[in-house]
Amino acid sequence: MFFRLLFISLVMSMNLQAAVRFEPKPLPYAYDALSPVISEETLRYHHDKHYAGYVNKLNELIAGTPFEGESLEDIIMTSDRAIFNNAAQVWNHEFYFEQLSPEPALRPSESLLEAINRQFGSVEAVREAMNQAAVNLFGSGWVWLVVDDEGELSILSTRNAGLPMRHGLTPLLALDVWEHAYYIDYRNRRGDAMHETWRVIDWRKADERYENR
Ligand code: MN
Repeated sequence: MFFRLLFISLVMSMNLQAAVRFEPKPLPYAYDALSPVISEETLRYHHDKHYAGYVNKLNELIAGTPFEGESLEDIIMTSDRAIFNNAAQVWNHEFYFEQLSPEPALRPSESLLEAINRQFGSVEAVREAMNQAAVNLFGSGWVWLVVDDEGELSILSTRNAGLPMRHGLTPLLALDVWEHAYYIDYRNRRGDAMHETWRVIDWRKADERYENR
C-alpha cells in the first residue's frame, strides 16, 4: 500500500514537472449560480469553450519557445501577437470570473469608496461611465477600473486582449465587452448586458485588489 501510494505520488509530481503548462481554473461558483444575469449556457460557453480555448491555444503556442515554463504574468508583459493575445485573454478571464459572485457586495468599502467618491462622485457614476465606455468601444475588448502608482483611479478601454498592466496600471474591475460574454443572453443589447452585469460584480474583490496593489 505504501509503495503504491509512493509510486502514485512520484508519477503525479513527475507529471506536474513535465507539464509546465497552463490549466483552466474552475469557476469559483456553479455554472447556474449567476442566472438570470448571466445564464448557465453563457457561462458554459464562456468558461469551457472561450477561456479554456485560450488556455489550450497558449499551451500550443509556447511549446518549444522561450516562454515555455514562464509565469503567465511574465508572458503577458513580454510577448506580442498570438502568444500575447492568448496569454492576456487567459489572464483577463481569470480576473473577470473571479470578481463575479452569486452573493456580491454591491458597493466598495472604506478606502476605495472614498477614492471613488472623490474622483467620480459616486459608485453609480463609475458604473455608468464604465457602461458608456463599453458601449463606445468599437469591436471587442475590455473596460477596466484601474488605479495608477499615485492611487489615481481611472477607466481604461482596451481593444481585443489588451490589459492594464501593459499600460503601467493596476486593474480593480473588468467588464468583458466581447460579444461571447453576453450575446446568448442579451443579443445586441450590449448596454443592457453591462448594466445587468453589475448585479453579480463583487466589489469585495475590487477592495482586495485596491488594498493589495
Ligand atoms: Mn470573454
